[in-house]
Amino acid sequence: MIPYGRQHIGDSDIAAVVDVLRSDWLTQGPAIPRFEQAVADYCGAASGVAVNSATAALHLACLALDLGPGDVLWTSPITFVASANCARFCGAAVDFVDIDGETLNMSAEALEAKLHRAKHSGRLPKVVVPVHFAGRTCDMASIRELSERYGFKIIEDASHALGAQYKSQPVGACAFSDLTVFSFHPVKMITTGEGGMVLGNQGKFMRRIERLRSHGITRLTNEMDGESHGDWYYQQTELGYNYRMTDMQAALGTSQLRKLDGFLEIRRQLVRRYNELLADLPVRVPIYDDRSAWHLYVIRLETPYRRRAVYDSMRAAGIGVNVHYIPVHLQPYYQELGFEPGDFPIAEAYYAAALTLPLYPDLADSAQIRVVEALRDALS
Ligand SMILES: *Cc1c(COP(=O)(O)O)cnc(C)c1O
Repeated sequence: MIPYGRQHIGDSDIAAVVDVLRSDWLTQGPAIPRFEQAVADYCGAASGVAVNSATAALHLACLALDLGPGDVLWTSPITFVASANCARFCGAAVDFVDIDGETLNMSAEALEAKLHRAKHSGRLPKVVVPVHFAGRTCDMASIRELSERYGFKIIEDASHALGAQYKSQPVGACAFSDLTVFSFHPVKMITTGEGGMVLGNQGKFMRRIERLRSHGITRLTNEMDGESHGDWYYQQTELGYNYRMTDMQAALGTSQLRKLDGFLEIRRQLVRRYNELLADLPVRVPIYDDRSAWHLYVIRLETPYRRRAVYDSMRAAGIGVNVHYIPVHLQPYYQELGFEPGDFPIAEAYYAAALTLPLYPDLADSAQIRVVEALRDALS
């Protein structure tokens, strides 16, 4: 089976992990700040906090922005469930903003209209989570402008977008947001097995996230509270978690980051080639964008009623096609909270026609041809 996505692990990645296994540290140790600094430098952010998943990163980012019971978080319905669940972890409510039918990202126009209505009903969001779907960046300038007008904070869910650029700055620089979250799951741009990171430029948020990553505990130095403590002394000042990344994972991440630009180049080449190879088929291909990180290659069938048959036929031919994503508001958990089919019609229409084709750095040209031929057969 040709999967829809997978990691590339080379000898240098393996060597980096083995080095850590022979060292004194396995859990969070010296490889963590090295990885955090490397990602922050790559993205042009002041600092990063590495954690054991993007889901944990989203949770801590929400807590750092004081999201809690009585508050509302808005995100896109076309995302992985974690972009919405992070609010529920904090006891906050979730609502969605429909997507733009072209970019598949949260529509800035829909956001503005919904904010206008929410202001009158007194239910403005505290946090908005734009998701850079498939690696293409959201209209961050407009979202930022709205955040100033309506007073919400912004967490970029950049799980698909490490290495993408927005207005000639890397995603993660947080030029138009408060915090940015990345995922290092194996299908993403680089991997640490499981892993995630929060990037930001504001020390108060980053220190809080660091503390919450490890039980809400701080090691107080004698100067910090004016008391004389033994070296063993620490304080738990709030309720935190164990969301730490291991040193093996961080070493793998630092090694992978060195390969990121090469991965991105291959992804972009494969996307250009797909667009050429699919030009004569009854499918809508994504508009090529040099600044996207191209996490996913999503086509839309001109005949959505055939999506199931096309999916099954390609799977039977050994092509691991997939669908990203079932709109989050249609999940039973969210329907239980009051959402219904029809709430976000552009997202639902997109979902009905969408099919993700394989895209990853090790996808050989010959395998790509097999994917295209299997699609041609399935459509004929
Ligand atoms: C993968 C993903 C996540 C969750 O990442 P994990 O590291 O698996 O927790 C969150 N949001 C989006 C958009 C994702 O694609």
